[in-house]
Amino acid sequence: MLTFDTVTMQQGSFVLTADLMIAAGSVTAVIGPSGGGKSTLLSAVAGFLEPAKGQVTWDGTVLNGHPPGKRPVAMLFQDNNLFPHLTARQNVALGVRPDLRLQAADETAVAAALDQVGLSGLSDRKPAALSGGQQSRVALARVLVANRPLVLLDEPFSALGPALKRDMLGLVREVLVAAGKTVVMVTHDPDDALAVADQVVLVADGAAHAPVSTQQIFDAPPPALRDYLGIDT
Ligand code: ADP
Ligand code: MG
Repeated sequence: MLTFDTVTMQQGSFVLTADLMIAAGSVTAVIGPSGGGKSTLLSAVAGFLEPAKGQVTWDGTVLNGHPPGKRPVAMLFQDNNLFPHLTARQNVALGVRPDLRLQAADETAVAAALDQVGLSGLSDRKPAALSGGQQSRVALARVLVANRPLVLLDEPFSALGPALKRDMLGLVREVLVAAGKTVVMVTHDPDDALAVADQVVLVADGAAHAPVSTQQIFDAPPPALRDYLGIDT
């Protein structure tokens, strides 16, 4: 369980409150207007920004104060963060060992992850020789091998076209959920939430709202979601 216990995040004059729980093993979409605080919410978990008040806990352990690299968190951003001078295999291997000194078991895990995202034949290519969709797959494989139970995705696939994005969302479910990860994914596209998320956290008007099941929230959108979706009342 990921818990935001009466959390307040502050960035300059911007304030975001969060008091909610996210079940382990679930896929949660975080949606809401641009500048509403979605990335700020993830920062509280990843450790890029400490809460001004309250506690973030995972499995009952308080995360506040832990440096980002020591948290049970793997993160994926839109730009994928691949190193251009490293092959796909090496880029994935960084998820296991930042110094790339792999043991045999690590090599096996890297190969298995590349296979799971459909890249086993391309593992010696560098990012420039891979398509955008393939680069996203490398980044996803790196998250998979990172051995961290919490995976945070911040608008990861928004640069991809619709078909590729659908493939990647499918892989998120197939690969990350199957591996038992707890996935929290920021997206500005409601269709992404419908495609992949068990539940939705709406971030608007200075608050991250408690999760609501995806079907339920789109069947009966609360006012802030209606505003965001542009539904007239
Ligand atoms: P989202 O991801 O929903 O687009 P963010 O979490 O990135 O929104 O930002 C929320 C708000 O925090 C923004 O509206 C902005 O005003 C403020 N903000 C973000 N980063 C900074 C910063 N480095 N310094 C001051 N204010 C910031
Ligand atoms: Mg953002």
